[in-house]
Amino acid sequence: MKKKILALICAIACLFTCSCGERYTGSQVVAEKVKNVILLIGDGMGPNQIKAGEIVKGEPLFLQGIPQMTAVNTSSANNTITDSAAAATAMATGVLTYNSYVGLDPKGNELETIVDVAKRAGKRTGVISTEELTGATPMGFSGHSINRANAKELVQTATETSNVDLFVGYTYASVTYPEMYINAGYEIIGEVDAISESTASKIFGQYDIYAKAPSMSADPTFAAFDRVVMESIEWLSKNENGFFLMAEGAHIDHGGHNNDIDYMLSELYAFDDMVKAVVNWAEQRDDTIVIVTADHETGGLMIHDTATKENFFEKYWWKTTGHSDTDVNFYFYGNTIDFAELSFVDKAHIIKNTDIFTLMKSYIEK
Ligand SMILES: [Zn+2]
Repeated sequence: MKKKILALICAIACLFTCSCGERYTGSQVVAEKVKNVILLIGDGMGPNQIKAGEIVKGEPLFLQGIPQMTAVNTSSANNTITDSAAAATAMATGVLTYNSYVGLDPKGNELETIVDVAKRAGKRTGVISTEELTGATPMGFSGHSINRANAKELVQTATETSNVDLFVGYTYASVTYPEMYINAGYEIIGEVDAISESTASKIFGQYDIYAKAPSMSADPTFAAFDRVVMESIEWLSKNENGFFLMAEGAHIDHGGHNNDIDYMLSELYAFDDMVKAVVNWAEQRDDTIVIVTADHETGGLMIHDTATKENFFEKYWWKTTGHSDTDVNFYFYGNTIDFAELSFVDKAHIIKNTDIFTLMKSYIEK
């Protein structure tokens, strides 16, 4: 009953807050029994990246309309400015660790990940990235190493000891150790369109995933990010007990590191298209929660108060080519949560990145 009242409040609130453009406009389906947990990470997607996307587009992004929202503090165990390895580890394991550490606590102990938790609960599990699977974010959910650059050790631990059923990433890297996936029982799926129909028990796919970055935009053979994710969801959802999926839009971060606003924006829009496809899918059912967030901000993007769609490109600047300690946004679809219950220190309604693990685990083990 309490849940239904909260849902009603949320639906009414939504009437006032979600009213324009392509922004999410549905009322939130309340997942009474959560089967599927989906975590969508925009790497380097700070609040001003989203704001820039909204200004240039002339209307809010889809993800901005997701009913529940708060902010996330992203600091790591040894730095207010995190890297993607420590940030992914925090979200995947609930433990704060040092920058560069993947799936390990500060003492070097191997940590259980949300993927392991989901597998134990009888779920299928998936890890997707628009960059190589050896990247710090996908490996934070599957591999273990004190150095994010130890690609071979990461893939070895990810394939031998992890519980990931579906690995899908980008093909750019020359060294991705496909033989390790094959030796661990993964079946290589050559075409994106073949993922959903595959009868394999473990899937490994690397594709030219389409994002509108300068070097990629011209090639029509690239697979759209939203299609890659939806093909994967179709396969993952064939499991009776549901699934856990982490999908990362990796190159928003690269746009920030390059201080390249066009690159950042095109990646952001590709990410938003993917979020829209996933939330639309979740909306057709009542058993799925979707979290949309970032691991950290990249570039220290600043936007002048007077920026408009017409003058935006004269009204922004970057403060760094690295990451910043800016809090990132956190959007939550599918249920009603009390952010204050999760929030840390005395900053009400700002959650810690490790809380994301706690939250996902609570739904998986419910
Ligand atoms: Zn970065």
